[in-house]
Amino acid sequence: MPTVLLTGIGLLASQTAEYGDLLDAAVIIEDGRIAWVGTGGSAPDADEHVDLAGRCVLPGFVDSHAHLVFAGDRSAEFSARMTGEPYTAGGIQTTVAATRAAGDEALTARVAGLTAEMQASGITTYEIKSGYGLTVRDEARSLQIATQFTSEATFLGAHVVAPEYADDPAGYVDLVCGEMLAACAPHARWIDVFCDQGAFDGDAARAILVAGARAGLGGRVHANQLRPGPGVQVACEMGAASADHCTHLSTADVDALAAANTVATLLPGAEFSTRSAYPDARRLLDAGVPVALATDCNPGTSYTTSMAFCIALAVREMGMTPTEAVRSATVGGATALQRTDIGQITPGVRADLIALDAPSPVHLAYRPGVDLIAAVWKDGLRIR
Ligand SMILES: [Zn+2]
Repeated sequence: MPTVLLTGIGLLASQTAEYGDLLDAAVIIEDGRIAWVGTGGSAPDADEHVDLAGRCVLPGFVDSHAHLVFAGDRSAEFSARMTGEPYTAGGIQTTVAATRAAGDEALTARVAGLTAEMQASGITTYEIKSGYGLTVRDEARSLQIATQFTSEATFLGAHVVAPEYADDPAGYVDLVCGEMLAACAPHARWIDVFCDQGAFDGDAARAILVAGARAGLGGRVHANQLRPGPGVQVACEMGAASADHCTHLSTADVDALAAANTVATLLPGAEFSTRSAYPDARRLLDAGVPVALATDCNPGTSYTTSMAFCIALAVREMGMTPTEAVRSATVGGATALQRTDIGQITPGVRADLIALDAPSPVHLAYRPGVDLIAAVWKDGLRIR
């Protein structure tokens, strides 16, 4: 593989302490990795040269929370919500019915389409959850499809209680922790549970995370999205990699996150699409909590593949500075996936990069709704 020298980088937003925001920068890519970072004049030579003509470069976005394996359309539900109907977790069942009825080919095509959108918008790593099958067969095949697209596949059999178990939620938790987990664990890195009203309580969430850990899966929790509850505390107590949503937090929740190794992953696309109050990112950042931003791409409550949109919302609605929002969408997402080989630009990490048609990443929030992506590299290969 030829080495590639990127020159003419007006500003390199490296997301590292060592390089910070480097002006007049250059980067060398070798064998899919960053081989060298420095200022333009000092760059060693390479086989190929790409002049970025003053554009800014940042790490590819890391989307640590996405639900991409599904069928069906819920635009009518969105439309109804915009006329005043509230969101409840029950809407998920609509997608469950459509997903069970869909063939593998249709589900795979949907994931291919959405991941192509993500890559075009600068997302070079994406987590993909199951959670719209809710049977042993449909959860396992959802994860088999997910693993064709990512190494970050998450078993979310505990999205909501399957309709067949409406009268026996404890029986469904037993299924998730038993036969379903056994069928799904070989195809997943993570296990996730929706701990909220209308989904699973704290004790069920704890049992599911314990069973997942025994099967070798790291923990993630959908926590405190719809109202205050035990989700964040359970996530911290169980050492989950991240507590996602964090919309309704008590002081004790913020303190627990600050003391734990658990990332608070904020998903403003969900508040946007459900016309709900946004999480208070400022409060979390001021308390020293590590924060990630992710799309939560799903058909019910956040049908976007645009991290730039989430960054704009985080800045406008959640009290983040543009720099903090970009950091949360790159190295923050990597931390939420416990990855150190992505989300920053420094020698040795994967060459996942974005060049913007802009002088700085501030423009991602400053120019909302405008596609500023000039180029994307994944593992050193230009994919846009
Ligand atoms: Zn979610």
